[in-house]
Amino acid sequence: MTSFQHGRPLHSGWETMTLWPRQRRLPHGRWLGVPSLLRLCFCMKGGKPRTLAGMLSFSAAFAFLLLAPLASPAQAHFSGVTALEYARELVAIGPRWPTSPGHLKAEAFLREHFKHDQVEEDTFTATTPIGPVAMRNFIVRFPGKKDGVIVLSSHYETNYPLRTINFVGANDGAATTGLLIAIADQLRGKPLDGYSVWLVFFDGEEAIQSWSASDSTYGSRHLAAKWGRDSTLGKIKAFMLADMIGDKDLDIQRETRSTGWLVDLVRQAAHQYGYDRYFFQTEEAVEDDHLAFVNRGVPSIDVIDLDYGPNNSYHHTAQDTLDKVSARSLTIDGDVFMETIRLIDLR
Ligand SMILES: [Zn+2]
Repeated sequence: MTSFQHGRPLHSGWETMTLWPRQRRLPHGRWLGVPSLLRLCFCMKGGKPRTLAGMLSFSAAFAFLLLAPLASPAQAHFSGVTALEYARELVAIGPRWPTSPGHLKAEAFLREHFKHDQVEEDTFTATTPIGPVAMRNFIVRFPGKKDGVIVLSSHYETNYPLRTINFVGANDGAATTGLLIAIADQLRGKPLDGYSVWLVFFDGEEAIQSWSASDSTYGSRHLAAKWGRDSTLGKIKAFMLADMIGDKDLDIQRETRSTGWLVDLVRQAAHQYGYDRYFFQTEEAVEDDHLAFVNRGVPSIDVIDLDYGPNNSYHHTAQDTLDKVSARSLTIDGDVFMETIRLIDLR
C-alpha cells in the first residue's frame, strides 16, 4: 500500500474550533437561532430591571445568550468519546487474529454488546494458505420503515502474520468497530423512519500470509457471494465501509472504485459539518472489504484513511495503539455517517 504525504496536522485548540465548527445547519440538534434572540430582546423591551431578582434574571439571560450558541452545538454531535471507549474495550482483549483465543474473546465482546439486538452470526470456513480457518461475521439489524437496507461495516479481527509482535489494531479494526457499536446506540429503540440499517462486522479482512485477491477480505467475499445467491444484495441501497478512520491525524482518501453518488453524499454530509478538510483531498484505489460488493453492482464506498503516522509508519506495526486514535476523529466519522444515512433516506 502506498504511503502518503501528510495532510494538515490537527492543531492544538482543535476541540474549541471543531466542536463548534463553521456550520450553517445542525442536522441532529438544535441551536439558538435569530428568532429566539429576537424573542429574548422583546422580553426586555421595557427597560433595565430594577429589583435584585430582576437583575439576576437579566444577568442569567445574558449568560444564556453568551453560552447557548456554544453549548447547543456540542449536544448535536455524535459521541466519539463513546466510540473510543468501545474501541478501548476491544483493544484491551489484546491481539485477535483468526484461530487465537483473543479472537474468541472479540466474538464474545460483540455478542455482549448486541445481546438485546437482532444479531446473525454468519459462520464459514475460509480456505487459506494455512489450511481451513473457521471465521465468523456478525450482522446486526435495525429495521426501518422504508423498503431497503443501508449497510455500515468494519472488520474486527487483527492480522495473523503480525501475531508475533503484539499487534492490537487500535486504528486498524478496533476504532471502526467501536464506531459502529456507538452508531448502534443511536439506532436502537423504535423502528427507523428511513431504510433499515445493518451493521456488519467482517472477519478475515487481513491476509493470512500475504495480501492477494485470494488471501484477503475473506468475510466480505463470503457474505457478498451468499447475499448474491439469496437475492439480499438487491435490497442494499448503499454499502459503506469504515476502515482506519480513528487516526488522530484524519485525512480520508477518495477511494477511486467507490460509487460516485455515494462519495458525493459523504462529501455533502462532511461539508454540512464544516469537515471538508478531512475528506477526499487525495485519491487512491484501495483493495478492501467493499470490493466484493462493488463487483456485484452494489453502490459502495470505502471510507478509509491509509495515511497513518509519519510515512505511514503506524500501519501494520506494534505502533498501532490507542494513543494514535482520537475521540475527535470518531466524532467526525460518526457525524458524517449518521448524516449520510439521512441523506440516503431522502434520496
Ligand atoms: Zn490492516
